[in-house]
Order: sequence, then C-alpha cells, then structure tokens
Amino acid sequence: MASSGIETILERIHAAERPDRADLSRILRIADPVEMASLTGYADAVRRRFVGNGVLLRGIIEFSNVCRNTCQYCGLNRRNTRLARYRLSRDQILTAVQNICGAGIKTIVLQSGEEDNLDADWLREVIAGIRSFLDAAVTLCVGERSREEYRIWKEAGADRYLLKIETSDPGLYRGLHPGMSFENRTRCLEDLAALGYQVGSGNLVGLKGQTVASLAGDLEFFKRGGFDMISVSPFIPHSQTPLAGEPAGDLEMTVKMIALTRILCPTAHIPASTAIGSLHGRDERPRALAAGANVIMPNFTPGDVRRLYDIYPGKAGCDLTPQRGVAAVERMATAMGRWVDYARGDALRLTRTAPGQDSPREASSDAGLAKALYN
Ligand code: SAM
Repeated sequence: MASSGIETILERIHAAERPDRADLSRILRIADPVEMASLTGYADAVRRRFVGNGVLLRGIIEFSNVCRNTCQYCGLNRRNTRLARYRLSRDQILTAVQNICGAGIKTIVLQSGEEDNLDADWLREVIAGIRSFLDAAVTLCVGERSREEYRIWKEAGADRYLLKIETSDPGLYRGLHPGMSFENRTRCLEDLAALGYQVGSGNLVGLKGQTVASLAGDLEFFKRGGFDMISVSPFIPHSQTPLAGEPAGDLEMTVKMIALTRILCPTAHIPASTAIGSLHGRDERPRALAAGANVIMPNFTPGDVRRLYDIYPGKAGCDLTPQRGVAAVERMATAMGRWVDYARGDALRLTRTAPGQDSPREASSDAGLAKALYN
C-alpha cells in the first residue's frame, strides 16, 4: 500500500471515537520504512497541533524500592532477594524536591514499589510538606491502594496519579501479575478519576505472550479511558525475574505504539520514557519525541540509592547528576527544533487554551472514565 493509503487509515483512526481494530492492526504491522515515516510524521503533526513544541519536564524521586508484588517482569518483585531495599525519609525526599525546584521544574513525581506497609499518613505529610513551600504539581505513582488512601492524598494536595494497566488483555495480565487482579487495577483507575486526579496509565511493549491484537486492545483501552497521561515503554528483561531469558520489547513496535497513542489521544501528555532511553544501551528518546511524545522525566533520586531502584538493567541517566540530566534534555530538545517547557504541564482539559490552539479545549468528564473502561 502506498503511503497515501496509510494516511487515509491514520485519518480514520484520528477521527474515530472507536477506532477500527483492523486499522490499528494494519498500522502495527508496518514494516516498510516509508510507511513508518508516514506514521511518525502524522503523529508528530498531531503532537505539534495539540500540545505544541515544548518538552515538559517531570522530576522523579523513586522514594522506595520495597514491593509486595511479584510482577513477572519487574526487578523490584519481592522474590528478588538479591536487591537491597531502601525507603527515603521525609527529609531526604524534601531535599530532592528542593533540587527539582532549583532546576526550575514544576512537577514532582513520587514513585515507589507497592509497599505493604506504606503509611498513608506519612505520605500525606510528605505531600503536605511539599505543598507548604512549593507551588508545584505533585504526581503519585505508588500502585494499587484503597479509595480512602487516594482520597487522603488528594486532599493533602496531590494532583496526579500514574498507574499503568501494563496490558489491557485480562488473560495476559493475570499471567504476569500473580496474586493481583485486572479488576482491582481498573477499580483503582476509576477511583482516581472520580476523586479528581489527573490520571495517567500506559503499557509495556514486548511482554511474553503479547500479540498485535493485545497491543491494539491497549490502544482501545487508552482511547476509552480518556487518560490525561499515557506512557508506552518497552519491556527490558531483568535477570532476577521469571522473564529473564525473554527478548526486550521491539523499538520499532514501541515507536509505532507511541505514534498511534498520540493520533488516538491527541491531548494526552506522553513521555519519552527512561526505558526507551535505556533499551540496548542507546538513548532512543529522540525517536519517541519525534513520534508524538512531549514529556521527559529527569531522575532526582539521590545518587546513593538510585541504582537500587532496579526495575530493569542499564537504566539510562543513572550516572548523571540531575543537573546534567536536565542539560542533556535541553540539548536533545534543541537539536530537534523543540524547547524545554518548565511549566506545570497540567492536563489540557483543565487549561483554557492548549499550545498552538486559539480556542478553549472541550473539557472531558471525569465520570466518563469510569463508564468507559468497561464498555
Ligand atoms: N508500583 C507502582 C505501580 O505499580 O504503578 C510503580 C512502580 S513500577 C516499578 C513502575 C513501572 O515500572 C511499571 O508501571 C512498569 O511498567 C515499569 N517496569 C517494571 N519492570 C519493567 C521492565 N522490566 N521493563 C520496563 N519497564 C518496567
């Protein structure tokens, strides 16, 4: 098929409320470089029109690697007894927050493994402590918790929450997450939306047993969910997991998924993830930025524990000071004709005018997410 045929399909996908599965599968099967260039070019144009040329920065602090789960792909899984576990104190977190603030970044991401003993009041105090001296957005990424815990943290000042679905295929999900349930994961996403969080989700590309059909299903899940942030990143095998011998996620497939996510969900904030910057030891984040991504998350976890947040090997930027990490993003953005945007970068449905647009954006309803996920 000529590339103009590809563009017709992309137009259809972009316009559809419910994209056609056959269209998504056709694009995910692209192997021809000319067709690939059409796909990424289209996604890049959608990105420019809906979220502009800025690359938003989110400063991430990985405050604990303690985890109760046994996700089959993750180096933090509790069966990895070779990993020394840590949890930062409130003061250590606040020091890292000050470093983020000093770099001019206005979103703090607090991420951890899913701790059994995470004290909701302790995290509430951390959030309130941050909000007491800083007008920055606070994003949490601490896994599946109760609605009550989510409520406490929202009231303390948390703005956003990231919880990737990892795979929207319930059977695959079950096999990869012993003891966890797909229903509870979607319950969490619904609770977060209902409580007024800006909600992020996402998937992993290259999981054992994943097919083009299940990846197309992930894209449909993103579209139905109306998420404010969507992270698509490649699976990277970790030696201390049951998936140790599996191949890493394919870079081209990851780029296709990022491009389709942008085309389907034009206003979402989409990161060029650290995982795509770590795959095969090369920094491929520019590929993601050129295919629809508009966010980068420099790492502000203190240097002495950073290596212990060992979700996958060869994590990019582990050796860089946060300042050098930010400088590298500045260089990357500039080389691509983009610029680093130091704004908070809230969900576009909450802001009156999107970059590159003249008119206010239509607000989507939070309640829509809850209804949509099961349809
Ligand atoms: N516990 C929280 C949760 O479940 O959302 C956050 C921590 S979890 C370690 C953060 C993300 O790491 C997951 O959403 C997953 O996609 C990613 N991750 C874990 N293992 C990975 C691997 N081997 N390759 C790539 N990404 C991985």
